[in-house]
Amino acid sequence: YHSLRPTTPLPPLTTPLSITDYLFPHLNSSPPPPTTTTAAAAALIDATTRRRISFPDFARRIQTLTSSLQNRLHLSKGDTAFILSPNSLHIPILHFSLISLGVVVSPSNPSSTKPEISRQIYLSKPVIAFATSETAAKIPSLRYGTVLLDSPEFESLMTRPTTGDNNNKQRVTVNQSDTATILYSSGTTGRVKGVELTHRNWISVMAGVFAAREIRSSPAVTLCTVPFFHVYGMGLFMRELAMGHSVVVSTGPRFDLTAVMRAIEEFRVTHVALAPPIAVAMTKGNVMDGYDLRSLEVVACGGASLQRSVIVKFKERFPNLQFAQAYGLTESTGRVFGTVGLKECGVVGATGKLFSNSEAKIVDPDTGIALPPMMPGELWLRGSSIMKGYVGDAAATAEILGLDGWLRTGDLCYFDNEGFLFFLERIKELIKYKGYQVAPAELEDLLHSHPDVADVAVAPYPDEEVGQLPMAFIVRRNGSTIDEPQIMDFVAKQVAPYKRIRRVMFVDMIPKNAPGKVLRKELIKLALSKATSK
Ligand code: AMP
Repeated sequence: YHSLRPTTPLPPLTTPLSITDYLFPHLNSSPPPPTTTTAAAAALIDATTRRRISFPDFARRIQTLTSSLQNRLHLSKGDTAFILSPNSLHIPILHFSLISLGVVVSPSNPSSTKPEISRQIYLSKPVIAFATSETAAKIPSLRYGTVLLDSPEFESLMTRPTTGDNNNKQRVTVNQSDTATILYSSGTTGRVKGVELTHRNWISVMAGVFAAREIRSSPAVTLCTVPFFHVYGMGLFMRELAMGHSVVVSTGPRFDLTAVMRAIEEFRVTHVALAPPIAVAMTKGNVMDGYDLRSLEVVACGGASLQRSVIVKFKERFPNLQFAQAYGLTESTGRVFGTVGLKECGVVGATGKLFSNSEAKIVDPDTGIALPPMMPGELWLRGSSIMKGYVGDAAATAEILGLDGWLRTGDLCYFDNEGFLFFLERIKELIKYKGYQVAPAELEDLLHSHPDVADVAVAPYPDEEVGQLPMAFIVRRNGSTIDEPQIMDFVAKQVAPYKRIRRVMFVDMIPKNAPGKVLRKELIKLALSKATSK
């Protein structure tokens, strides 16, 4: 499948260009020219504190911070910066500044534990970290230390021009083939890996999205409830800000449905980007009654699958809203399929049509032979948004990315005759809890280290609200009486909250096929049959 959407031509590959300069071509002119639509509008709004940063201020802050990073913190092209922070107004400014210098941005989930962070740091080898007073203690010492994003020092880096350098960055040549970001994903199998995405990958995804974009009302205000450390949130703020839309940032420890509704009403939000759990919550009860949601036009959902019944309920409850779906992976620089506009959003259950700059095919997962429309098989993707590879891991890269450039997604899907993609199920190991990745191999490694565990498998247990729950199947050692709470507690102490084991079943053996691969589906079938017979 090729995309039939309009295309925006990509800049020649040999032209040096960072993703920041591609998105904001006027940033380096001083002062930045205000665009007619955006001069007065807020670029960023904090949904909790209501703080706003206007577009001119946003541009100035990127310019000043870029210069400070270079002249005061001595960062240079090729360095990596690790970021451990919840969403805040600072994050887009920091990302664009680092990226424009050719510094690789590597953000991690702020709830990661010390051992999880150690592995990520081992993979991406950062020289500096940006964290908050709450997360900084989890970061080991790095060459240039850790800068606190909630400190006066960081505010000064963004607002006090360095004397003598006229607030302009010294010329840095960033090539499109240079790495722009390293995000963390376990891919189709095994433990967490560092996904290297180049400037070209990001430019290609943004060009595809810009070409296909729907006409927005003016002023367009997008509420982003998804995390900026994930490819979904990062791609979202990049494209919304580049299009001159205001981005309302969900901040604070709990951004639940009530907070979403309040923000839509208060900031006259036109678009909201969600992960499935909030979309599910919107179909239930009467939590939303009493809020003025008339500004809202589009609810976009992606990152994990949503049951068809939920989509139907959503459409019944909100007949005037477009319910947009998107599909992508960290390894494809986020969304490569999406529904755009009223007509496409009306196709219930479809995760969308292909954006430009990508090719797709459905193949028989055993033979690799391409299949026609309506036949389910593994989705393969190719194009200029597919990752460079897993950093420092040629073997893992070769497992998912063929020499012919096809990325094997590990997702079972089919195309209909109109070219809409339908997601059926995940055939890879990955568990998605509330849209967050949980790698079974990582939890299995941990549980194998427990002296009472003889064998273990971790598999996704289906759940309407959160998508999938990590469930452990345990074979106890002879004589052991270890119980469910002890297993859960053992894991909970060592992993970020979203990775916790939430169900346990004790079994006599772990079913495996001849080459020793765990038959996770059989285990889940067993658990489901036990649950229904109770
Ligand atoms: P991540 O790298 O965290 O974005 O995870 C990518 C995986 O999330 C995909 O391979 C799918 O299994 C799943 N996923 C992403 N978007 C969707 C969607 N719209 N519907 C179903 N699954 C999705």
